[in-house]
Amino acid sequence: MGSHERLEVDASGGCQCGAVRYRVSAVLDTSHICHCRMCQKAAGNFFIALIGVPRDAIAWTRGMPATFNSSDKAARGFCADCGTPLLYDYFESKHINLTTGSFDDPSRFAPRFQFGLEARLPVSSLNGWQKAGFGASDATPAGGGAA
Ligand SMILES: [Zn+2]
Ligand SMILES: [Zn+2]
Repeated sequence: MGSHERLEVDASGGCQCGAVRYRVSAVLDTSHICHCRMCQKAAGNFFIALIGVPRDAIAWTRGMPATFNSSDKAARGFCADCGTPLLYDYFESKHINLTTGSFDDPSRFAPRFQFGLEARLPVSSLNGWQKAGFGASDATPAGGGAA
């Protein structure tokens, strides 16, 4: 992934139980979903939704996420108390990825890309899914990083 536009925002989020809270002053225009197997496992779901946040733009305002190194290149962060997936950290990257759904208002950051299509799981004919653009094999930027 190359350079992405930095968007100045004021947004907050956190886990389900409230033990971990964050505030961000900027995001990247990289809101996406990833279908790769590692993200499926990390989210316990068919895919994960993530958005890039410059490391200097995130403040942990309550608690800190626990982390699990899902490979030697990346970690997954989550609330140690309630288990909510909170982040994907690819160590070499200048940004981390927060789970879009953990924001207080995820609707501000609609996914624009999808990655890991080779592992995409079948979705039956959900109402509106195709219209939302997730059903088509949209062109995606190359590379999703090592999960
Ligand atoms: Zn929690
Ligand atoms: Zn992935």
